[in-house]
Amino acid sequence: MRPVVRGSVPLVAGVAKTVSDYKDWRLDLLGRIGNYCSYCNMVLNDSPQVEHVSPKAPNPGLTLTWDNMLLACGPCNRTKDDDPFDIATHYIPDYHNTHLAFSFKVVDHPTKRNQKACIIIPRNDPAVDPAKAQATIDRCGLDATTYNVRATDLRWKYRYEALVTAQLWRSDWDKWGSGIGAPFVDLLLTAATGKGFFSIWFDVFHDVRDIKIALIHEFENTHAPSFDPGSDFDPIVRVVGDL
Ligand SMILES: [Zn+2]
Repeated sequence: MRPVVRGSVPLVAGVAKTVSDYKDWRLDLLGRIGNYCSYCNMVLNDSPQVEHVSPKAPNPGLTLTWDNMLLACGPCNRTKDDDPFDIATHYIPDYHNTHLAFSFKVVDHPTKRNQKACIIIPRNDPAVDPAKAQATIDRCGLDATTYNVRATDLRWKYRYEALVTAQLWRSDWDKWGSGIGAPFVDLLLTAATGKGFFSIWFDVFHDVRDIKIALIHEFENTHAPSFDPGSDFDPIVRVVGDL
């Protein structure tokens, strides 16, 4: 899960923007953090939903607050719903280093034969509280493998397809791309941003410093300090004492 920076309240003619409908933040959020779900990191295409980090029903005072807004896909937004979601009990992409908190795993789909699924799991790292990571996964359904003929939650499938694509690019990088350098990286960035799932690409290229730097900069407003230039841009704790 990509750590992001929403930034300060957008200005209109030099004055902090106010809204009467939270959906009026949509274009501002798209401009700041790109057209990706803030939780599963899937490309949102034509249906980006403005999502309240702290749910609006139990927190009416936060219904219109810029600092409480992110973008989400339908499945993440629906699953998260109005259930409690808090920095004390969950890892949140505009506060924690959520790339460090989570990893992924490929599994055989439990009901669909010959189909792989890629699901999110807590990252095995001493800085990560596995219970808190799992609570976040549960709250957003990031390990869901829903499959039926009417299923609209296909995050597991798109995530797997992104992984396969990233691994193909990695194979090409190792075979000949690294000899080409920057032009290859430019093409790779086009593929990565078009496919989404920042953390998949970042982990597949976990030992290629130049591509990690390029991914951090190409995905809009990724929280760059969450990656340590002193250790080849490996993820580091964003909130001391709390990952
Ligand atoms: Zn999502």
